[in-house]
Amino acid sequence: RAKFDGRGMQRFYEAGMDQPLQARQALKMELRRALAQGELELAYQPLLDLRAARVAGFEALLRWRHPKRGLIPPAEFIPVAEETGLIVPIGEWVLHEACREAAGWPDGVGVAVNLSPLQFRKPGLVDAVGAALAASGLDASRLELEITESVLLHHSEGNLSQLHELRGLGVRIAMDDFGTGYSSLGYLRSFPFDKIKIDRSFTSDLPDGIQSLAIIQAVTALGRNLGIVTLAEGVETRQQLAILEAQGCDMAQGYLFGRPVSAQHVGRVLLLDHRLAEQS
Ligand code: C2E
Ligand code: MG
Ligand code: MG
Ligand code: MG
Repeated sequence: RAKFDGRGMQRFYEAGMDQPLQARQALKMELRRALAQGELELAYQPLLDLRAARVAGFEALLRWRHPKRGLIPPAEFIPVAEETGLIVPIGEWVLHEACREAAGWPDGVGVAVNLSPLQFRKPGLVDAVGAALAASGLDASRLELEITESVLLHHSEGNLSQLHELRGLGVRIAMDDFGTGYSSLGYLRSFPFDKIKIDRSFTSDLPDGIQSLAIIQAVTALGRNLGIVTLAEGVETRQQLAILEAQGCDMAQGYLFGRPVSAQHVGRVLLLDHRLAEQS
């Protein structure tokens, strides 16, 4: 059907565009069923307290175990979940599942859950968090909610009051992917965040990126002065860790310490961490 009639390039381009659109359409339909059929699961990645040299908690990361396509990472289906509004029930499932798992961990070990800006736009987020805590029996102080700057960018008045209500439940609020948005510093003024997660792109520039190093230096100093915990994302090498420790960064997360693992492996990670702490 595609003739090379001088507009061949354009036709080729259009034909190429159909594919991802169709795939996206299919993904939407399947995602609806995935939640109901239990194809979603959470992986947990350790969050290291650098001074105490121990695992202080885990970040819950969504995975879709697709019957035909295997494990699908969140980058591929969360945008679709947001488009369809499915992120709201999915996000609620994540909250319940993460709190239920974390309630079985030792007292000092917390859990971090990512929230989509869309969850703030629909009513019931504060109630959903409260319900997840109540159902699991998890102490609110062990739950941390991670939000990105976009939560404060859109509908900021309503979102800001929801953040205060969430804080009122006793949970902590972390700013995720810090430094990638448009006005990171301004947002720190509008809400008293408990933690700043410095985006992986800064860490991965180390050791050679002097701009990134200067930014990390400034953000950790800012955290110290504002009484906000700083965590560096994406730490993959000992050299990066040494630099972050020298800067006084409080916490770290990354493949150097551990990749995200399934719920049944969390205990093993904690046991290993405990043994290492006893040795040192
Ligand atoms: P995020 O919240 O910034 O999560 C950290 C991401 O960095 C995770 O990717 C993690 O696997 C990856 N990561 C951690 N350490 C390293 C490292 O050393 N090197 C590299 N290259 N990557 C590392 P993941 O699991 O693919 O998640 C991607 C994003 O999807 C998350 O970024 C978060 O924005 C979103 N996401 C995940 N789970 C949920 C969820 O339950 N709800 C919502 N709304 N978003 C979620
Ligand atoms: Mg996160
Ligand atoms: Mg992050
Ligand atoms: Mg990130």
